Amino acid sequence: MPRTLDPELRRALAARIRYYNEMGIFDFYRRPRSAGAEEVSISVDEAEAVVSTSTVSTNQTESGEEMSPRKAATVAMPVAIEEDIFEVIALKPEQSVSDPVKALKMIREDLGDCTRCVLHKQGRKQIVFGVGNPKAELMFVGEGPGADEDAQGEPFVGRAGQLLNNMIKAMGIEREQVYIANIVKCRPPGNRTPEREECATCSPFLMRQIAVIKPKVVVALGAVAAKTLLAMSASMMQLRGRFYDFRPAGIRSNDPNWDGCKLAVTYHPAFLLRDPRQKGEAWKDLQMVMKELGMKAPRSNT
Ligand code: SF4
Repeated sequence: MPRTLDPELRRALAARIRYYNEMGIFDFYRRPRSAGAEEVSISVDEAEAVVSTSTVSTNQTESGEEMSPRKAATVAMPVAIEEDIFEVIALKPEQSVSDPVKALKMIREDLGDCTRCVLHKQGRKQIVFGVGNPKAELMFVGEGPGADEDAQGEPFVGRAGQLLNNMIKAMGIEREQVYIANIVKCRPPGNRTPEREECATCSPFLMRQIAVIKPKVVVALGAVAAKTLLAMSASMMQLRGRFYDFRPAGIRSNDPNWDGCKLAVTYHPAFLLRDPRQKGEAWKDLQMVMKELGMKAPRSNT
């Protein structure tokens, strides 16, 4: 029976997969475990190797960074890998669909009445999938639904949502023009911060949403969103003030012309409600995003 990966190991593996993605490798398969084997090897290879089912690997280990001419690699892991680790790597049904509305619907259907993490049994009223323009150039990603969002089934509809709406308006656009989602789609009890494991379990669905929407810029609202999307740990001070090249981890768009987008980090609106002095800093972040998108503010903002 597969064992659950240690969160740190899982995170390291996610970082490794992101690295392979950046090298242009998206398809992964697992070699069958031989009887009595102590280790399981995870092979990473190009699509044709997966299709042909022939096992080709270079027997490189975790420390071997060099790739063979066929861009194949083997990563030795000390534990069995649970099935869903690579769930987001496999081709997803929505990747054959060009209509983003249909594709998002397929992702929602795949999510179903989700019980993949403990948040499903901790008092959620409903899953908060995401809302907005399925072809948005700009996406905002928060942490998780609060009480209002849980009740209404839509992200950012409470007080923090009102502030986010004002921030969007200040950029000269309407809420309906952007797409808004969260790292986790179920309300953490008492509005606690979602656990890393919960973020890791839920965020692949967000990654698929991003790959379908193909925004030009994603704005991560707060540290949880930033750290999950970027798979890195740093303070908000370190994370803000620059763009990151972002590709949804483990998934590729059906559009070969979309090779990821820019990602910026700013404060979560709930934090700005608690510390309004930081609004000016958040506005600086949004101005940076506006410049990237060629947008002009309709009025002077501070
Ligand atoms: S938070 Fe996400 S993974 Fe967890 S139960 Fe809800 S939809 Fe499923």
